[in-house]
Amino acid sequence: MNDVNCLFCRVARGEVSAAIVAETPDCIAFRDINPQAPVHVLIIPREHIATLNDASDAATIGKLSLLAADVARKEGIADSGYRTVINTNAAAGQTVFHVHLHLLGGRTLRWPPG
Ligand code: 5GP
Ligand code: ZN
Repeated sequence: MNDVNCLFCRVARGEVSAAIVAETPDCIAFRDINPQAPVHVLIIPREHIATLNDASDAATIGKLSLLAADVARKEGIADSGYRTVINTNAAAGQTVFHVHLHLLGGRTLRWPPG
């Protein structure tokens, strides 16, 4: 299902341009417009799911992580290390309500995050 007004559904439909780095039948990976690390890629399901709280299909959510690992290998950060994050709702800073997994790497990442 798609949401006409959702930014990332519009990316998935090709209505909003994005620097796409990988595509599968179920997911798309594209560069974050405001990168927080040398590699900052967003991985989304093509299907509109607002937040992780709204997800129910294990395969859909699992595919986001597996595509992140593929992109990390392609970007040359798989061995040095990277982080994957899904922000959910206000306290985590979610701003786009189409579930997305952040892939961050290419620099040392501190823990705990802010
Ligand atoms: P959130 O804060 O919801 O976890 O992450 C949303 C992310 O989407 C942010 O890192 C933000 O920079 C990114 N973003 C917002 N609008 C656009 C856009 O139009 N294109 C791309 N490529 N990234 C976007
Ligand atoms: Zn959407």
